Amino acid sequence: MKSFQPETLMMSHGYNPEWSEGAVKCPIFQTSTFVFRSAEEGKAYFELAYGLRDKEEREEMGLIYSRLNNPDMQILEERLTLWDGAEACAVFESGMSAISTALFEFLQPGDLLLFSNPLYGGTNHFVHHVLTKFGIHVLGFDPGATQEDLIALVAKSGLADRLGMIYLETPANPTNDLVDIAMCRAVAEHFSRPEHRAVVAVDNTYMGPLWQHPLKHGADLVLYSATKYIGGHSDVIAGACLGSHELIGRIKTLRTFLGNMIAPHTGWLLLRSLETLKLRMEKQAQNAQIIAERLVKHPKVARVHYLGLLSEADGEAYATYRRQCSAPGAMVSIEVKGGEKEAFAFLNHLKLVKLAVSLGSTESLAQHPATMTHAGVSQEEKTRFGITDNMVRLSVGVEHPDDLWWDLEQALEAVPLGSALLQEALIY
Ligand SMILES: *Cc1c(COP(=O)(O)O)cnc(C)c1O
Repeated sequence: MKSFQPETLMMSHGYNPEWSEGAVKCPIFQTSTFVFRSAEEGKAYFELAYGLRDKEEREEMGLIYSRLNNPDMQILEERLTLWDGAEACAVFESGMSAISTALFEFLQPGDLLLFSNPLYGGTNHFVHHVLTKFGIHVLGFDPGATQEDLIALVAKSGLADRLGMIYLETPANPTNDLVDIAMCRAVAEHFSRPEHRAVVAVDNTYMGPLWQHPLKHGADLVLYSATKYIGGHSDVIAGACLGSHELIGRIKTLRTFLGNMIAPHTGWLLLRSLETLKLRMEKQAQNAQIIAERLVKHPKVARVHYLGLLSEADGEAYATYRRQCSAPGAMVSIEVKGGEKEAFAFLNHLKLVKLAVSLGSTESLAQHPATMTHAGVSQEEKTRFGITDNMVRLSVGVEHPDDLWWDLEQALEAVPLGSALLQEALIY
């Protein structure tokens, strides 16, 4: 049969209406446990679940207990693999549970974790305050680091033979700085030995499953906060990890024992969300491009950080963008002229765009990274990563772009023009 595109398959893949009285939609399997037809069948399923023997040809793993498997969880996993071209997927009750489970599975005490800065706040805390308690060494690198820089950094750490994972967020939140995934793969290869292989993991939340496919650029694992674009309606918390059968098999085993799998109802909500994933994300990116092009010309805006504004003149960043991403996304960070006071005036005057953290949803959201999502980052690091006091991060939704522009413009209107500059002039 013809191989259909992912958006075509989101309504049907992995589900057969005959399993559920002909129901067109996969029902919510709100059950904790499943009946075995015979004791022999129960025994056979557990042999597979515990890896006591390999699957026989054409043998399917049967349903046992909803911490191990459930149709809403499994069908969701099968549909998610289609976007990233992954062999396998594991879904979780949150993005953080997907991330923490992957880090725990692939790092041993004494190993080195190399990660890109800045990281999502929750991940940053987990890396610095939890992994280190288990004897894992952690080392961050700054935006713009080259392959030579990374090799030198790892070599200097004295732990070159223990590099366990390179963990990336690209584009970076909230600055949209890019990290070259293929370059990180090359660094991982440089330090890998047959008995100690470094895994490359990419948190792809910022681009969702549509605009960047890290596995195709050499990553081993892709992670998502499914709370963001995948869920897309700001009404659910969930996460996902994708990769090869082998690596995801290990992650699923740890998930079984941590018990942080997705719940049936959450899985069902995400199946619904996936049907409109592409429609939503494409509209969001179109809106973001329109908004970014208008913002960059506004007299009260000092700078706009948006991938859709990159050009040849941006050199390496533009080359990486063209290689790695198929669209610029819907995350736009702006620097309002002035400082925190001006940024807050802008945020407080928004009428349509909601003042809230999170991203990737149908409604547009705005927040102040320096005092909100990145409040835990030290002042010295904020300066190094370019998280300035006048920065506002926008997640652009599916509203009419003219309505969004009306709101942004009237809120910018309310920003006192150059009041900070004026005060400085009076002081000095
Ligand atoms: C939101 C987010 C997370 C955490 O996901 P939760 O679903 O809130 O646990 C991780 N990484 C990035 C980039 C995020 O935006």
